[in-house]
Amino acid sequence: MAEDVLTIKNLSVDFKTLEGTVHAIRNVTLKLHPGEVLALVGESGSGKSVTTKTVMQLLPKNAEVVSGSVEYEGRDLLKLPEKELQKLRGNDLAEIFQDPMTALDPTMRVGKQIMEHLLQHQDINKEDAKKKALAIMEKVGIVNAKERFKNFPYQFSGGMRQRIVIAMALICNPKILIADEPTTALDVTIQSQILKLIKQLKDELGTAVIFITHDLGVVAGVADRVAVMYAGRILEFGSVNDIFYYPQHPYTVGLLKSTPTMEMDGGDLESIPGTPPNLINPPAGDPFAYRNRYALKIDFKKLPPFFKVSDTHYAATWLLDKQAPKVHLTDKLDQRRQHYAKLVEKEAHQDD
Ligand code: ADP
Ligand code: MG
Repeated sequence: MAEDVLTIKNLSVDFKTLEGTVHAIRNVTLKLHPGEVLALVGESGSGKSVTTKTVMQLLPKNAEVVSGSVEYEGRDLLKLPEKELQKLRGNDLAEIFQDPMTALDPTMRVGKQIMEHLLQHQDINKEDAKKKALAIMEKVGIVNAKERFKNFPYQFSGGMRQRIVIAMALICNPKILIADEPTTALDVTIQSQILKLIKQLKDELGTAVIFITHDLGVVAGVADRVAVMYAGRILEFGSVNDIFYYPQHPYTVGLLKSTPTMEMDGGDLESIPGTPPNLINPPAGDPFAYRNRYALKIDFKKLPPFFKVSDTHYAATWLLDKQAPKVHLTDKLDQRRQHYAKLVEKEAHQDD
């Protein structure tokens, strides 16, 4: 395998607040492979955005990186001077968010915005920038790009606006695209169109993508690998197949059981009882232990290491220890497995 595009190692970030120090993420280690979509999944507050904001060095003032490194092209992004970072942001590293309006200037024609982005970051003349802007608008599926070039953001629907933002993010050919819940605000049909677009673009342009979502349901169709995050820690990671067919951490199983799928009625959904721990005083041991009915005594006391499930698949739960009792975590998941199998298969065939 070629070298990783990005290597996050042992990353811990705190926030100073009036209530105390929030330990938002702890010892996060993640690798992004070339050309892949890595999904970062977990309930709200689990540390997904903080992780990628640290990569981009866009943390708020009350944040402190306590440990770790973010390696990109042989350099630690955490040690780069702001000027170097500015060059990388938007050029090598691009980001899109849930609300496309945060990235768009409501008073500027969209074509001009895309063009300006390119002019700012690259040495290119106006005429070529315009050609490129039009081409990328067409690539992201804007019909009548020439006409639409002159429109303002309010003249587009939510889904089309997100396409404009994606065009702007991709026009400088970034090596890495961070997509932070980019479809959460969209309705289901538009959501699946945008997911397809992201997948198609990464195939065509070779951009590696970190795709953040709280919704495991959208992951099967778009991701190559999945990392599951909870209370600031990665609990499990593996290929899409590993995670959907052979989930090992009770939290991953809980997420799968509580995710609606389009073909199922709500009756089979099981929500995860309880709430995530307070991150000012995070628990010792597996942070999910308190919500895990299979938790062993040791889960409350000692942080489980990553147990290797296969070459691609690791999970941090004491249930994988040789001495642990055998439990049947995945009962009732069979129907879901079939559903996801269909989705993954469908995507695989589209690649043929
Ligand atoms: P996610 O993106 O997974 O929903 P975040 O990464 O945004 O979660 O947040 C992780 C944790 O960090 C949460 O507990 C959140 O309350 C805390 N946090 C995020 N930003 C701040 C901040 N500016 N000040 C204090 N705590 C914060
Ligand atoms: Mg977030």
